[in-house]
Amino acid sequence: MKNRCDVLVVGAGPAGSTAARYAAEAGLDVLLIDKRKEVGLPVCCGEFNASTAVLAEALPGAPGFDDLFPIDPSVVRREIRGAVAVSPKGREYEFDLPGYTLDRDALDRSLADAAVRAGAVLALETTFLSLDGRLVRTRRGDVESRVVVAADGPLSPVCRSAGMERNAVLAPAITCRVDGEFGDRLRFYFGNSVAPGGYAWVFPKEGCANVGLGVQDRQTPLPVLLRAFLERMGLAGGRDAMAGFVPVSGPIPETVRGNVVAVGDAAGHVVASNGGGIATAMICGRLAGLAVARHLLNGEPLDAYEREWRSALGRELEAAAKTKRMADRFLGSDFLVERTMGMLGGGGIRNLIVFGGLSGR
Ligand SMILES: Cc1cc2nc3c(=O)[nH]c(=O)nc-3n(C[C@H](O)[C@H](O)[C@H](O)COP(=O)(O)OP(=O)(O)OC[C@H]3O[C@@H](n4cnc5c(N)ncnc54)[C@H](O)[C@@H]3O)c2cc1C
Repeated sequence: MKNRCDVLVVGAGPAGSTAARYAAEAGLDVLLIDKRKEVGLPVCCGEFNASTAVLAEALPGAPGFDDLFPIDPSVVRREIRGAVAVSPKGREYEFDLPGYTLDRDALDRSLADAAVRAGAVLALETTFLSLDGRLVRTRRGDVESRVVVAADGPLSPVCRSAGMERNAVLAPAITCRVDGEFGDRLRFYFGNSVAPGGYAWVFPKEGCANVGLGVQDRQTPLPVLLRAFLERMGLAGGRDAMAGFVPVSGPIPETVRGNVVAVGDAAGHVVASNGGGIATAMICGRLAGLAVARHLLNGEPLDAYEREWRSALGRELEAAAKTKRMADRFLGSDFLVERTMGMLGGGGIRNLIVFGGLSGR
């Protein structure tokens, strides 16, 4: 592995691969490392992405859509028309939500391939250990890098090592795969017997569904909740179960410190009201790659990145985190959830989940 580069990107998820691609396209010497043996595996994701039109409506100030979306069509597994939110008592609220489910490992591979095609060097099974200025320690040796991109997910060892504040609230979530045909609507299930303080989901794919749930805390182990949900739904199997965390407290206070920039889950770039972070990781990854290039090639201060992503989608991410905090107050009570869903109806539920309470612009 090379021991010197312009930019070391830690994490070959959507954020890191996109940042690596844009920095490499600008002509920088980029090393993209990941601790995994294979990019994108194991999958720990609901695998849904909203359509470009919905993303553009939800994040009207975000740049780069023409470049980033639509994603590689070969990774799409089913077109999605809409969604159904199911209340604790089983009342159903339908709303429009065009988008698609995808094979998340294939998406991650296609984004990493694009970075490599642009000239980045990808090193797998290379775990980041620590950082001291330009010197980065990995399990496969030391690397000297002018800039380090922390794209290493919600727990971000890079942010910790750089002394940056990390995600304050991490919601535990679990997902698995169930065979069968499930139509073309996402289904969200609310209620404390299903997913305390969160929701369970069934997201249709081709010949199977991604089934999972996210909760507020870990009082009951996630695999127990998932098994109970599968039984309740009459779903057999449940292959490839995998648990992880979703950052739901909004962006971290500072995403640039010294020569380190944080992006994607590491930076809290997630729409906290629904837990979606693929598209925002890509949008902010592009901004990070471009800002790092301008910094190293033209001497622009690195913290231009912080200003750019905040003005592009900071308001929406903060609003979604606020909505999530508000929702946390009633999600603990099935009675309140039932009443609130009844009051909101399908359109109101869509506004809160998809747009973090900011729709209608
Ligand atoms: C159960 C679940 C379901 C979800 N469902 C959806 C969904 O349906 N739609 C959606 O849009 N979002 C969803 N999300 C959120 C989405 O997965 C994330 O927001 C997205 O993956 C963020 O991309 P990222 O590149 O920032 O981080 P990641 O995809 O987490 O990538 C981080 C990378 O860093 C690597 N890494 C970590 N530590 C180190 C280290 N020390 N050294 C080297 N490499 C390291 C990891 O191996 C990983 O490859 C879900 C999350 C979970 C947990």
